[in-house]
Amino acid sequence: MSPAGKKFDYAPAPESRAILDLKPSYGLFIDGQFVDTLDGRTFKTVSPASEEVLAEITEAGQADVDRAVAAARKAYDKVWSKLPARERGKYLFRIARILQERARELAVLESLDNGKPIRESRDVDIPLVAAWFFHYAGWADKLVARPLGVAAQVIPWNFPLLMLAWKIAPALACGNTVVLKPAETTPLTALLFAEICQQADLPPGVVNIVTGAGDTGRALVEHPGIDKVAFTGSTDVGKMIARSTAGSRKKVTLELGGKAANIVFDDAPVDQAVEGIVNGIFFNQGHVCCAGSRLLVQESVHDEVIRKLKRRLTTVRVGDPMDKNTDLGAINSAAQLDRIREMSGIAEEEGAERWSPPCELPSRGFWFPPTVFTGVAQTHRIAQEEVFGPVLSVLTFRTPQEAVAKANNTPYGLSAGVWTDKGSRILWMADQLRAGVVWANTFNKFDPTSPFGGYKESGYGREGGRHGLEPYVTLGDVQ
Ligand code: NAD
Repeated sequence: MSPAGKKFDYAPAPESRAILDLKPSYGLFIDGQFVDTLDGRTFKTVSPASEEVLAEITEAGQADVDRAVAAARKAYDKVWSKLPARERGKYLFRIARILQERARELAVLESLDNGKPIRESRDVDIPLVAAWFFHYAGWADKLVARPLGVAAQVIPWNFPLLMLAWKIAPALACGNTVVLKPAETTPLTALLFAEICQQADLPPGVVNIVTGAGDTGRALVEHPGIDKVAFTGSTDVGKMIARSTAGSRKKVTLELGGKAANIVFDDAPVDQAVEGIVNGIFFNQGHVCCAGSRLLVQESVHDEVIRKLKRRLTTVRVGDPMDKNTDLGAINSAAQLDRIREMSGIAEEEGAERWSPPCELPSRGFWFPPTVFTGVAQTHRIAQEEVFGPVLSVLTFRTPQEAVAKANNTPYGLSAGVWTDKGSRILWMADQLRAGVVWANTFNKFDPTSPFGGYKESGYGREGGRHGLEPYVTLGDVQ
């Protein structure tokens, strides 16, 4: 505090946009070139922090999707599947190095289009993107399995370039070619990635990027010319894709929603656990499929944990994603903000107690303060449904058995966290929890060597590590 009693504040530390070469409009990336649409329309992508229009984007129609699939097929048959595997690996290494060289540009563009803090895109998203390409580049010449052919890949808006890397790196390493559709609110880094493919001299047609919304995605996954569907997104759309591909020979992987339990036992180091709770739900504005959105805290330490959590949340800085001091950026879209508001309203109506730290939100753009609901019951919708925003539900338990029963009581099963001093309890809990990933005394840790994926309505298939190769190969003959 200053002598006058006023709190010192951080000076603004904005990251410059000067490094970007944003074009007013973008075509589709097909057969190694940016091309105009044959039958599509256009839409605008905006900065969620200011509602500024960033660029005009093409919404690919059926004829565009046909053309992209044909380009991918030709590249697969004539070039990519014929290349020695080590040559394919060299292209991936080259792309990985260019991603590192252009990391700052990619981070700035990601934060601008998505609304996530520059600190996260700079220190988490983009380094992981490069790591994913390096990892799978190394696999390319170590496989004896055969590729599938053409992969259709559809991704969400929460980690736009990272989800692209999770999809494209293993597909290419295994010898497939791809047509990828980024989410409609965050297409810009995928289009910059297309430029990187040109820079790396990747053979035309190996990577094709078609932009658009749900109709474009549907045209792509239902296309008869593809061999594989890889989808990351909501459980509702995942179910539609499962139905529309059933009975086809397409191999399908679905990475869907989550409602992770972050479980704090009374012997956990409380200050570290509080940091883990904050990281678990407020990282990337809570737009994280594996977010620790349900805090299960042992009854005997509930009051202490909540007191410390609230104190810690008063220091969280919400605001301009381009400011290097920002912890919590903008909500990705007006539609997502509506969903978060609606779910929070329902939680209050159902009897949970709402709390947010005092914070001033910018007047333009899409914003929501960090929010904690205490007194949440298992039956509340806020304890069952994915909010996909900076909203934490707090429940309590008395015994490890009760913690497991409550943690597993959701339709999802993507991830979980356990905070305890006791190693044997960590192992026991990990064994009992129906979740694809269980973090112990940490949360939201990602590594290209580690498989990631869900149980139940969180989907099927694994991405990452050796497991992430399996969805892109066959050990038998290709039909
Ligand atoms: P969404 O399902 O609405 O959209 C995801 C993508 O699918 C977008 O590109 C969208 O244009 C496209 N799409 C929409 N309708 C389609 C259709 N009928 N056919 C084909 N494609 C279609 O999801 P979202 O709101 O963009 O993303 C948030 C969801 O993604 C959350 O539920 C989150 O949990 C999930 N997610 C899961 C993981 C994971 O690895 N499990 C990772 C990130 C996000």
